[in-house]
This record gives sequence, structure tokens and C-alpha cells, in this order.
Amino acid sequence: MRILFAASECAPFAKAGGLGDVVGALPKALHALGHDVRVVLPRYQFIATWNKRRHLKPLGVPLGSDELWCGVLEGQLPGSDVPVYFIEHDALFYGNQPYQGYGGGVNEMARFALLSRASLQLCRFLDWVPDVIHVHDWPTAWVPVLLNTVETGPDFASTATVMSIHNMAYQPRFSPDGLELLALPDSVFVSDGLEDHGEINPFKGGLYHATMVSTVSPNYAAEIRTPEFGAGLHDIMNFRGADLVGILNGIDEDVWNPATDPHLPHHYRVDALAGKAANKAALQMELGLDERPDVPMIGVVSRLNHQKGTDVLIGALDGILSLDVQVVMLGSGDSGMEDELRHRSHYGLGRFFAWIGYNERLAHRIEAASDMFLMPSRFEPCGLNQMYSQRYGTLPIVRATGGLEDTVEQCDPETGAGTGFKFNDLYEAALYATVIWAVDVYRTRPELFRTMQLRGMRKSMGWDTAAKEYAQMYEWALGRKRG
Ligand code: ADP
Repeated sequence: MRILFAASECAPFAKAGGLGDVVGALPKALHALGHDVRVVLPRYQFIATWNKRRHLKPLGVPLGSDELWCGVLEGQLPGSDVPVYFIEHDALFYGNQPYQGYGGGVNEMARFALLSRASLQLCRFLDWVPDVIHVHDWPTAWVPVLLNTVETGPDFASTATVMSIHNMAYQPRFSPDGLELLALPDSVFVSDGLEDHGEINPFKGGLYHATMVSTVSPNYAAEIRTPEFGAGLHDIMNFRGADLVGILNGIDEDVWNPATDPHLPHHYRVDALAGKAANKAALQMELGLDERPDVPMIGVVSRLNHQKGTDVLIGALDGILSLDVQVVMLGSGDSGMEDELRHRSHYGLGRFFAWIGYNERLAHRIEAASDMFLMPSRFEPCGLNQMYSQRYGTLPIVRATGGLEDTVEQCDPETGAGTGFKFNDLYEAALYATVIWAVDVYRTRPELFRTMQLRGMRKSMGWDTAAKEYAQMYEWALGRKRG
């Protein structure tokens, strides 16, 4: 099958969250199954050009009343032959991050409308017509809309579209004038299309127009059909229910491997765990925490915001720290939460440390050093850190929502089963009680704790299973498209 990934992020080139991880990894796993997979993304200003091949011919992309001329650079996903095409147009793809925000200087709608239109032009440019175009969240949701309206020529007549939902919480709205940018007819600006309370909502439009829709865990696929999790789109999710599939994300088992991780001072594996304690000692020393091997260390690596339940975590922090544990946090996000955590870290007394910012190396070290890992998310489409934790022998303590529910098995003290600890209600008291439980198992049932660690480390979490499920879904989408 020929598959084009059109996306606003792709690790390691441009990443703001889990979407970038998926687009950086899934194409490689599909390629390994024998598919012809390619990726297209913007050549943001922060992406280096020196190691990429520049196509001599420019790419013309109609936008509004103009034709914009774009450069095309070509590279590969690291460690693979999967081609990545970078669309270059400095007037729109500038700045030091993929998204400029709705109030930012860049017209966010034009930026990704250009990417979407350019993705189709690129296929013509390469004389390569995909069977499936796989788009991701709102930025490339324009593609299915375009293929059902203005791009109805013979070249894409048999091309199916799949839209993946990575996070429903990000739904920008744009003025209806934006329709002109993509030369879209008024007929798409309807409530079962792009229109949302008088404005354009590309996320919504994509969900209506894509041949099939997927999201990143089976549980989140069920949750988004309810008002609590559907972010205003639950009716559409029910309407598209027969075409909606939940496929659990994998993780990159080469990057997240405690036996080879270059960020770790000490390596370890399931049959030689001693290095884990050595990583804990090294991190305690590095961060100025009390150097005590017996004290349970609880890690957090997260965006700091309402979705991740950081507010509840901060509320429960004093109680948690009273349990004679150490808490190590890494994250950035809401400025009030950042300030609060900085302040508390200043008075951390050897028990609490917070590093505000983005730090890949520290993220790996926290996963390796910690005994437990906290993720009290309000909603979580899939979540990656709870999977990294299990692979690193670190027991996740999570709210049972979305992909956290799918990927963490509850501790069962009777049978010795489980890979972590789950709670249902997002209250400080519930979080606190679950931490007490986990700490109690750590202190009084070390053999149970160890059994759970080993079970988590032995789990298979790579992308190969997900890739097979996506390939199956592409077949279904093609079946629907081609009748
Ligand atoms: P989301 O995409 O909602 O932020 P995920 O758990 O799906 O959450 O993915 C988050 C990714 O970003 C993980 O790879 C995680 O390790 C990484 N990450 C988040 N915050 C930081 C940070 N401050 N420093 C380093 N890595 C981070």
C-alpha cells in the first residue's frame, strides 16, 4: 500500500507532544511490513536544511487568490528508508515551534491550510498517488475536506483518508472568511461539516469528511463518544461510530531501553536490575536530594496543566511528601503552576525537586531512577510516560482514564498481578490514598513490588502490533472508499 502521513509534527524533527512521537515511529513500523510510506511536514525555520536534499523544481500551491511557491526538501526518518518531505515557505513556517498560538503573529489557519494543500500538490509533483492519506488532528484535517470538495479530479478518486485524533482538546476556531483560502464552497460550512457556532472548526470538518477516524487507545475511542470527554464533538463521534477505531500507541523500544539508554549513568535489564538503584543514587546526588537508597522516589514528567491534573497533584503534594518519599518533577506549561513548583522546589528540603522546562536527558534519568511514576490525568488519549515507566521497572500510579486504563494493569495483592496502581476519581484524597497504597507495597511487600516491576519490563510495547492494526484499518478505509 502507498501511505502518506501529512502532519504538523514528526519526531525528531519537530515535536510538541505525543502526535510527533507517533508520526516519527509508526511509518517505520509500516515500512517494515512492506508498505511504501512517506511523510510530509513543514520545513519549520528550526529544522536544519544542510543534511537534506533539495528538489530543484519548486512546488506551486494555490492558496487564496495566489499561487504560493514552496521549496521541497527530502530527508529520511532516522534509522530507516522512509522519505520525509519538508515543505518550505518561510513567510508562513517561521518561529521556533510548530504552533504559534491563535493570537500569535502567524496566521495559524494559513500555515496549515498551506501544508494540507501542499501535501496533495506534492503527490502530483512526485507522480506518486497514495492509497491512503493519514492526517493528524486539526492541522491537516483540511486534507479530507479538500478531497471531498475541491480536489475531486481523477488522480485522487481512489485515495482514502484516515484522520487520527491525538488530542481533542485543541480545536481552534477561525473566521468563516478563511474558506476563501482553500477555495472551499459554502456547502462545507454547515453544522455537519466545518461550521461550529458560526466559525470554522477544521477538527470537526475533518471528522466528518475522513473516510475513517482513529484515536490512540481503545478506551479513549469509547470515552470521546460521551459529553465528558468529547470536547463538544461527542455527537459526531457517535455519528461516525462505525468508522471509529482505537489503536494503542506503541513506544520506541530502541530509544526507551534501560539496557542501552545513552542518557543513563548505569544500565540495567530485567535479569540484572542492580543498575536501577545506582541510577537512583546518581539522580539523588545530581539533584541535591537526600542520598537514601531506602526512600521511595516518585517521578513526574509532564506538561503542567489542567489536562495532566497538575493542579490536583500540587494540592496533594504536602500530604505525599509527609510519607517520607522523594518527588522529582520535570515539566513546563501553565505559568502559575510553574511558579508554584519552582517555589516549592526551593524549599524542597532534600525531598522535592522540580525542574521547569523541557529536558530529554532528565526525562530518561527520572524514568530510570524512580520507583514509581505519577500521572493523575483528567483525560489521556494514550499517554507515553506510563509505558516508558513500565519498561524502566518504575510502577505507574495513574488515574484510570483513556490510554492509562488500557496500558496499566491494576495491582492485585492477592494474586501478585499488576503493573501499577490506578484510581478512578480525580480528587486529591484519591490520589493521596493511592500513593499511600503504592508506598505501602514498596515498604511492606518488596517481593510483590519486584514481581510487578518485572512484569512491566517484560511487556511488549513496540510499534509492530499497532502497525498491523493500522494496516488493517487502511484496508477497511480503502474498501469503504472504493466500494
Ligand atoms: P502529551 O502528548 O499529552 O504531552 P504523552 O505522554 O503522550 O503526553 O507524551 C509526552 C511526551 O513528551 C513524552 O515523550 C514525554 O517524555 C515528553 N515530555 C513531556 N514533558 C517533557 C519535559 N518537560 N521534558 C522532556 N520530555 C517531556
